[in-house]
Amino acid sequence: MQCLENASLKARNTFGMDVKADRLWILCSREEEEEFLRSPWAKQPFFILGSGANVLFTKDFHGSVVHLETQGIRMGAARDGRVRVEVAAGECWDDFVRFCVDKGLYGVENLALIPSQVGSAVVQNIGAYGREVKDVVHAVKAWHVATAEMKVFSKEECDFAYRSSFFKTVGKGEWLIHSVEFELSTEAAYHTGYGDVAERLQAWGETSLRAVYEVISEIRREKLPDVRELGSAGSFFKNPVISLEKCQALQAAHPEFKAFPASEGRKKLSAAQLIDSLGWKGRRSGDVGVHERQALVLVNYGRATGGEVWRFAQAIQADVQRHYGILLEPEVIVL
Ligand SMILES: Cc1cc2nc3c(=O)[nH]c(=O)nc-3n(C[C@H](O)[C@H](O)[C@H](O)COP(=O)(O)OP(=O)(O)OC[C@H]3O[C@@H](n4cnc5c(N)ncnc54)[C@H](O)[C@@H]3O)c2cc1C
Repeated sequence: MQCLENASLKARNTFGMDVKADRLWILCSREEEEEFLRSPWAKQPFFILGSGANVLFTKDFHGSVVHLETQGIRMGAARDGRVRVEVAAGECWDDFVRFCVDKGLYGVENLALIPSQVGSAVVQNIGAYGREVKDVVHAVKAWHVATAEMKVFSKEECDFAYRSSFFKTVGKGEWLIHSVEFELSTEAAYHTGYGDVAERLQAWGETSLRAVYEVISEIRREKLPDVRELGSAGSFFKNPVISLEKCQALQAAHPEFKAFPASEGRKKLSAAQLIDSLGWKGRRSGDVGVHERQALVLVNYGRATGGEVWRFAQAIQADVQRHYGILLEPEVIVL
């Protein structure tokens, strides 16, 4: 296994924050994962960094950062229209989605182009266009950091919720995901009811796995900044989930606010709409700003520091709370 000391993380986080880690461990195989976990370095707290697409570094990281570069996609035999595929946690999420499109496997095409590793996709329960990773996860193999033993988690044990899982809550910091087993369908099943996907497919001229992948990629490219040009971490805040009573009171004063069904007795609001309603879209302070087309996306125009981005985010949080009594929770991990 490789250890880089005083390592720059600038190219390893999509905000492009110019920070360093005391030690950066690059693990390329199951053996290296185990070797690291059995070493004295694993007895001190460390941070697992995927592709850094959901992290805001506000300062140098004093300690160890672990990054997986493990690879491997193993497809089982199809049975009754289903097939299981085991994927190394270090694989690039979109490479896996494209693998599925090429092999005619249905289930992840709506999650095209999300910047993520496969392991982090499970931690975050990534979602887009009406689908979430939890819809296709069968099991997860993860190392228990304290004992270096491996456990297989069933889907139920992963305790998935909106942009969350066991690995992000109760099990946070205690598990290193090694691989994920997905269950996909070999029979056509499309989910195109979200946004303008169906409309665009019509213009495309066909509904196929590849067409869905391409259409969703196209929409994403139009809507979201390319992180190679403009640093960001996607949606900075989660959509708030509030009680039915609070939602009714808010909508009485602001009938334009959309509300979506959430768990029983609760409604989900659009954080983007709340932020936009207060005039934040396109606003900029120095090199930090809210993206001009996406009120939920904070961007680094070049030389912003993590501290500046975080202060800007807190100003938005305070404004939304003052006006609507709702505390926006960051989706991004602030370190
Ligand atoms: C332009 C852009 C668009 C985006 N669009 C979406 C979207 O549509 N939907 C969506 O849900 N998200 C979206 N995101 C957010 C981001 O893509 C996801 O949160 C993604 O899962 C982050 O993956 P990562 O590999 O970069 O993880 P990181 O940000 O590096 O890490 C995320 C978390 O996972 C943990 N982790 C990583 N690997 C492991 C492992 N092997 N074992 C245990 N823990 C691990 C980390 O410690 C951290 O807590 C977007 C981000 C950007 C920049």
